[in-house]
Order: sequence, then C-alpha cells, then structure tokens
Amino acid sequence: MVSEQVKEGIERTGYGISGVIGGIGRQTYYTPDGRKIRAIPAIRDYVVKKDGKVIESGTRDANYDKGWLPVMPPELKPHCDGCDNWHDTEDDIKACVAEKNKKAKAWEKWAKKQQKGEAMEQVKETEDLRVKMFEMEGNMHTLMEQNKKLMEMMEKKAKGGTFG
Ligand SMILES: [Zn+2]
Repeated sequence: MVSEQVKEGIERTGYGISGVIGGIGRQTYYTPDGRKIRAIPAIRDYVVKKDGKVIESGTRDANYDKGWLPVMPPELKPHCDGCDNWHDTEDDIKACVAEKNKKAKAWEKWAKKQQKGEAMEQVKETEDLRVKMFEMEGNMHTLMEQNKKLMEMMEKKAKGGTFG
C-alpha cells in the first residue's frame, strides 16, 4: 500500500521527464505522439551570422530540438524506438528500425572481425614468447653447463691445493 504522503511525494517530483511534473519555471511541451511534458526550458543563446555579420541573436529553447512542441499537435506522429524520434507513418518506423538493425548487425560483424584479428595477434605474441623462452632456456642450459665445468675446475684446484 502506498501511503498518501508517499503518493503526494511521487506526484510532486514525478516519475521522470514524461507526465505532469509541475513546479515553478516549468513549461508544458507536447511530444509529436501526444504526450504532455512539463519541463524547465533549456534556454540557449544563439547567434545567426551572415557574411561574418550578426544578423540575428537571442535565446532559444533547446527542448524543441528534441522534437517537443509548444502546442498539442493536430496530427499525432508515432514514436520510433529505433531512433527515439518521431516519424510520419508506422512504415517509416519499420524502415528506420530495420535500417538500425542492419547497421547493428554490420557493426557486430565488424567487431567480431576485429576480435578475431586481436586473437590472431595474441596467438602470434604467445608464439613469440615461446620462442624467446626456448632461447632463454637454451642460454640457461649453456650457462649451467659452464657453471658445472667451472665448479669442477675449482673443486680440482681446491683438492690439488689441499693435498698437493
Ligand atoms: Zn526512427
């Protein structure tokens, strides 16, 4: 059970950006699919230049860049999950989503290829390391042989020193 107080709190703060949120400074926007949004205007300065001269300047609301409208649109447009935008018809959405999936697949293919390339490189690196290790082992063996001979020589010398 949601208490009245909690309900009130939810109503005050809202669930997200969509829906009626209320509050000072907020403005009502409408999405092309007919949702009502209360949000703080995203005011940006803008300058329009022509031939290096400022011909127009002022402020604009960047919320309209999202496709939001100041009034309820007379003809609603369906929202597209493919591009998080609005299209004129459901067919346009289908085409947009299909195009997005095509691009996603192409990207996946490319990523897999990249991965394969990296894996090949790793195999090559491992192979190089193995060769280096064998070389080092060879050097180690030679070193140990030399050491053994040296020890034998020193032992002989020590024996000769004691008894000779
Ligand atoms: Zn789309």
